[in-house]
Amino acid sequence: MRHAPLFLDYHATAPLLTSAADAMQSYWHRSLSVHETAAVLEDAQQNLCALIGAAPRSLTFTSGATEANNLALTGAAIAATDSARRDILISAIEHDSILQQTAVLQKNGFTVRRIPVSAEGMVDPAVVRDMVSDKTLLVSVMWANHEIGTVQPVADIAQVAKAAGALVHADATQAVGKLSLNVNATGIDLLSFSAHKMGGPQGIGALYVRQTPPVAVARILHGGAQQAYRPGTIPLPLVAGFAAAAAYTHDNMTQMNAHRAECAVAFLSVFAARNIGYAINGGVGKRLAGSLNLRFAKITADDLLLHVANDMIFSSGAACRNGAPSQVLAAIGLSPEEISRSIRLCFGHGNTLAEVKSAAAKIADFIQGKA
Ligand code: PMP
Repeated sequence: MRHAPLFLDYHATAPLLTSAADAMQSYWHRSLSVHETAAVLEDAQQNLCALIGAAPRSLTFTSGATEANNLALTGAAIAATDSARRDILISAIEHDSILQQTAVLQKNGFTVRRIPVSAEGMVDPAVVRDMVSDKTLLVSVMWANHEIGTVQPVADIAQVAKAAGALVHADATQAVGKLSLNVNATGIDLLSFSAHKMGGPQGIGALYVRQTPPVAVARILHGGAQQAYRPGTIPLPLVAGFAAAAAYTHDNMTQMNAHRAECAVAFLSVFAARNIGYAINGGVGKRLAGSLNLRFAKITADDLLLHVANDMIFSSGAACRNGAPSQVLAAIGLSPEEISRSIRLCFGHGNTLAEVKSAAAKIADFIQGKA
């Protein structure tokens, strides 16, 4: 009998949590009254705002983090059309939804500069301080990285950006549900995240927009008054699933992180026992639990992926790059050849220690030419 491959790519997406599936179930088959709709939305805002330490009702539901990132940056840029602030700073390891969007903003008269990162993939707030000026409109630095899992000193970065009068955006897609975030304590103005990275449904995300003092964000989609910053029918089943996943991860964050970390330890213990050499790309200090980006000595990621495709799923980079070499690994100084020998893994709630060990053993077999 054919078995489903083991999913080890939680940076890409996460399987739906039972509580999220159950929460959605009751909303697929009937339309709700205005009153019921308002109650579902209110509930969801409460759960989600609690997860990021935001004031109630400060979220706009979007189709995912890609759209939230676009609304944050392009929305802030359009709102600042008459401002003298024309510079946007982004970290060198942002997701494509920031990189490609800012390339468009650059064509439309904004200056976009990339904040370099260290070999560990970290942004230095002192470098940001040197780059900001009274011309800086916005600084966007992701909270945690989708390939190397590094967690940025967001509060310190926000502090130097705010001192220059700039807005601060953080793409927290990989961080929400895994780290305790507080947009107020960190001084973040705009924060993007997505349901499917934390066991909620695909197709919904949110943008936090600070209300006091208010942040000017223009709509990028037009045509309805359902939400202040976004038109279109709000998908209630998805909202309910998003909120349920948020509530679950909020309540179980410590044990979920412990499990992710244990999976990573178990996985690497097989390599130690089998004498498999590897390097860890990116820093090991400030990193999401269960996130591993490994570089092997002799094999390429593509050969390995092909060989184990029936047994397990992980990747050679971010899914959205469609096979293009990782620009995150390039930004931390790896050569194209080193990048070709690198794999991205992230463990999660659906994995057992026994499964991840058996996956590591299969990889070890391939590397040692025993497969
Ligand atoms: N930002 C980061 C850091 C991500 O990892 C992803 C998903 N790959 C996105 C944004 C886009 O998220 P979504 O799939 O919800 O559009």
